[in-house]
Amino acid sequence: MALLEPPISPELPAFANAYLKHDKKLFINGAFVDSKSGKTFKVFNPATGDVLAQVAEGDRADIDAAVAAARRAFESGPWRSMSPSQRSRLIYKLADKLEERLEDFALLESLDNGKPLTIARVADVPMSVDNLRYMAGWATKILGDSIPVPGEFHAYTRREPIGVAGQIIPWNFPLLMAAWKIGPALAAGCTIVLKPAEQTPLTALLLAELAAEVGFPEGVINVVPGYGETAGAALASHPGVDKIAFTGSTEVGKLIVRAAADNLKKVTLELGGKSPNIIFADANIDEAIAGAAFGIFFNMGQCCTAGSRLFLERSVFDRVTKGIAEVAKTMPVGSGLDQQTQIGPLVSDEQLERVTGYIASGINEGARTLSGGTRVGTRGYFVEPTVLVDVKPGMKIMREEIFGPVVAATPFDDPNDILGPANDTVYGLAAGVWTKDVSKAHKMAAGLRAGTVWVNCYNVFDPALPFGGFKQSGWGREMSHNALDCYTETKSVIVKL
Ligand code: NAP
Ligand code: MG
Repeated sequence: MALLEPPISPELPAFANAYLKHDKKLFINGAFVDSKSGKTFKVFNPATGDVLAQVAEGDRADIDAAVAAARRAFESGPWRSMSPSQRSRLIYKLADKLEERLEDFALLESLDNGKPLTIARVADVPMSVDNLRYMAGWATKILGDSIPVPGEFHAYTRREPIGVAGQIIPWNFPLLMAAWKIGPALAAGCTIVLKPAEQTPLTALLLAELAAEVGFPEGVINVVPGYGETAGAALASHPGVDKIAFTGSTEVGKLIVRAAADNLKKVTLELGGKSPNIIFADANIDEAIAGAAFGIFFNMGQCCTAGSRLFLERSVFDRVTKGIAEVAKTMPVGSGLDQQTQIGPLVSDEQLERVTGYIASGINEGARTLSGGTRVGTRGYFVEPTVLVDVKPGMKIMREEIFGPVVAATPFDDPNDILGPANDTVYGLAAGVWTKDVSKAHKMAAGLRAGTVWVNCYNVFDPALPFGGFKQSGWGREMSHNALDCYTETKSVIVKL
């Protein structure tokens, strides 16, 4: 295990120093403002545990103000009367600006979340740009139908924006989750109140700055950092919000549904996962090893799609588990700012506790580590990429979402019997299949109860592909034209001729 030293460069790059010097504020009605309570909260650098920034703490009163601004913008502001093509151009401009500022965003994301800067540069920021561009294109293509009905009638449908959208996002891909959420809402003509995660509010606030620069009318995009239990809960239950979109834990997803019930908001949820990754003996084993390691260690395992349950045909079990453990042992662990780093810190001390707690629970229940298993260093929230074997289906590590770089591997004998164990989870977000047998691949793809199935690859995303969960992994789909359905209402119009 190579821990890069020193764990963090003492000097922050110039942009970060300048940007973080002043307290960050809430973005409401086109302006950066203090919270009504005057309270702020600290945001930490996960590589050191040091305070990175001080951010205004939004709560119910600020959510009220943001929802009122979003409502005004929706009902009577210039946004309302803009043509789809004008909306489209604004979203394109936001994407262009974001692309121009790629380095600043990547740096801020790495500092705030801990993820390797090298990854934020090639994944988080460009994928956010891509998502915005994809949705910008849709703004002019939201169409109704002309529907033949009996009698002297002309009947057609219109697809209208749902209204004010509350959006609550997690800390694992802060900017990308913001882009996934705001893109379709803006394309559809909705207005937005976005609550970023308490751990990682910085890139959403910088994005709001760009939105103002490119000319989004005031109130169309509001960003209110704060805690889930206060700001998040206020947004989820707010009578002035028409739709709530949430990404995070299944536990909180259920709270969101209850909170949304009073005014029957439309709800979409993108929740947790415990995704099976199945490797058959006839696969290209070298590729499968690399792919399975990527499937679990990417973003330090803090991916809702993480391939955390590995099912390996018995004849390749030893080779694959050893192979993944070898990959794990050679991945440099260190500050996200270090160019060598492949494994940065987990996002918070809370996640550090949680993930090391799961590893300990697995070992207590009889699992064995082939690699990793412990915290790295004493400063920052680093955990070794970990491979666990000798696991049993009932163990906590096989049932609950760990959200860390920890994979549990089980052998299987009969390829015809693997669907049962693979689907034996309350989740259904994603799955992986590795085989050269085309027929087996498609049978597995059909049999797996998951919103995404990757065959001979893992964690491949595109804005044109729908993403979301079966079972307790969520409601609705993000990205693709499916996302637009979640931000529009369909109206039937019947005209007597
Ligand atoms: P979380 O609590 O579900 O947080 C997600 C978002 O919901 C955050 O913005 C959070 O605010 C907010 N929130 C929390 N409680 C809320 C409430 N009562 N009403 C409205 N909004 C609320 O996730 P977490 O605590 O950060 O992480 C815990 C576990 O969740 C992880 O270990 C992982 O297993 C899972 N998780 C899954 C995903 C995913 O993509 N599926 C993402 C993140 C975490 P705060 O920031 O203040 O909590
Ligand atoms: Mg939480």
